[in-house]
Amino acid sequence: MRWSRYFLPTLREVPAEAEVISHQLMVRAGMIRKLAAGIYSYLPFGLRALKKVREIIREEMNRKGALEVYLPVVQPAEIWQESGRWQLYGKELLRFKDRHARDFCLGPTHEEVITDIVRKEVKSYRQLPLNLYQIQTKFRDEVRPRFGLMRGREFEMKDAYSFDKDEEGANKSYQDMYDAYCRIFERCDLNFRAVEADTGPIGGSYSHEFMVLADTGEDIVVGCDTCSYAANMEKAEVRRESIETQGVEMKELEKIYTPQVKTIQDLTTFLSAKPDQMVKTLIFQVDGRPVAALVRGDHEINPVKLKNLLGADVVEMADEETVRRITGAPIGFTGPVGLKGIEIIADFAVQGMVNFITGANEVDRHLKNVNLNRDFKVDRFADIRQAMEGDLCPRCETGRLKITRGIEVGHVFKLGTKYSKAMGATFLDADGKEKYIIMGCYGIGVGRTVAAAIEQNHDENGIIWPFPIAPFHVLILPVNMTDSRMVETAEKIYQELLAEGVEVLLDDRDERPGAKFKDADLIGIPLRITVGNLAVSEGKVEIKFRKTGEVEKVPVNEVTQRIKAILSAQLK
Ligand code: ATP
Ligand code: MG
Repeated sequence: MRWSRYFLPTLREVPAEAEVISHQLMVRAGMIRKLAAGIYSYLPFGLRALKKVREIIREEMNRKGALEVYLPVVQPAEIWQESGRWQLYGKELLRFKDRHARDFCLGPTHEEVITDIVRKEVKSYRQLPLNLYQIQTKFRDEVRPRFGLMRGREFEMKDAYSFDKDEEGANKSYQDMYDAYCRIFERCDLNFRAVEADTGPIGGSYSHEFMVLADTGEDIVVGCDTCSYAANMEKAEVRRESIETQGVEMKELEKIYTPQVKTIQDLTTFLSAKPDQMVKTLIFQVDGRPVAALVRGDHEINPVKLKNLLGADVVEMADEETVRRITGAPIGFTGPVGLKGIEIIADFAVQGMVNFITGANEVDRHLKNVNLNRDFKVDRFADIRQAMEGDLCPRCETGRLKITRGIEVGHVFKLGTKYSKAMGATFLDADGKEKYIIMGCYGIGVGRTVAAAIEQNHDENGIIWPFPIAPFHVLILPVNMTDSRMVETAEKIYQELLAEGVEVLLDDRDERPGAKFKDADLIGIPLRITVGNLAVSEGKVEIKFRKTGEVEKVPVNEVTQRIKAILSAQLK
């Protein structure tokens, strides 16, 4: 490809709206352009990277025997009503009507469509197992689309769905996809970790997320410093610490005047007490009914755990009015003592506390020396708090938890019979019995993977493409386009590399050398061949590795062989 004939608009300036580096670089390197919030066009250079990732995914899916299909983006409401998600999915599901006033949506995911196909076509255990996948556009009307391709509204996903006749088969399908994902992200040269995850609105019994580790990641990853335990913060378990409370004397309950003291921070200062001597009481609306959740003052509630514990669909913080109605006091003074007609759930850590401080359900008042059972009853104790740095690992004996950030690039779910039951996907087993098909589903964000790769591979000058997903492998840069010898040499190398099938871009623009070098670093092609004065005086060019900065001086007639050798080592 000749840059003069290519469409690669690079920018010097950092685009104002781009907060993270991958977004900035993708715009500056002419990969993407925004059409509307969370909706992007891929320009040729960006599309080449996307296609590389697609191809790696495709190869690994095919290797595991998954079969490629292509499903519709526009989906009728009926199948979503059958699965129950027409109600549950919320505003992320973009709904609209056709000219006959029938309800449709843009597919945010394809469990319904694929289950509909399989229930109609698969009748016998002989047709199972089956794994169908596609690489296609999804639409989710995200509340906060941001970070470019990282959290778009329209985005490309590889989604796969497995169908099995029994648990054993379903577990194997899950493991196959887990292994395929590991290979995919390894082949993309990403530093990633597979972590235990919550199943969210997709549902099902268990799942893992594939996290690319990066400081700008939106997800919090909790990992043990000793064993292999790792989980998304939403899911991360907390080990119950045994605290000896027997023999500690219960002091007399006391109401204290605490004007304008509403937060744990305020209380800490006002009472010179430590947060772990306090209990926070939070009122939630759980599928429309209020629930009180108690955690120690230095802990944070984990709403996902609460939601799973209660088997609820929607868990939200109660608004000021509801809190006043239930507690008789404004937010900031809520406590468990005297709360009526509301379920009280407390975190395990609260179980080990005595003589603690809580709100008094009265404006500007708190209670001191509150004690479990004597002053109030808890309906159930459970693990409902966020894990913290330094917590004991829930799996091994000695490890402590560490907290890092990650970008979720892939997600595998074991769905079980959730969709096959809801939509009647059954088969006849060898014993002649009708059974539900056991499903799994597996997603990878293609654009997000490209963004994550840049997030992990860049420097202050631009992108540093890992070889396997680089839009081109070689950039030829003739320093001066008015020097015919440089131009001829560059042209000769270009033709030779093309003939060898090398993916090469020739910067034949009549630009200042400084601008060309800057652009070369910005777009980050792994190998740069500089054709400059040395080519004229000594018949040599420079091969520079974008990643290490290493430079080799190579005679013009050996360049092609050298490039081929480097590429075959890098792309094995
Ligand atoms: P998130 O928690 O980031 O919203 P999710 O759990 O809703 O993602 P899944 O339903 O598991 O996402 O989708 C599978 C994959 O699709 C994700 O692992 C991610 O790589 C990608 N993906 C999901 N939402 C987006 C988005 N808004 N923009 C780009 N990629 C996305
Ligand atoms: Mg997910």
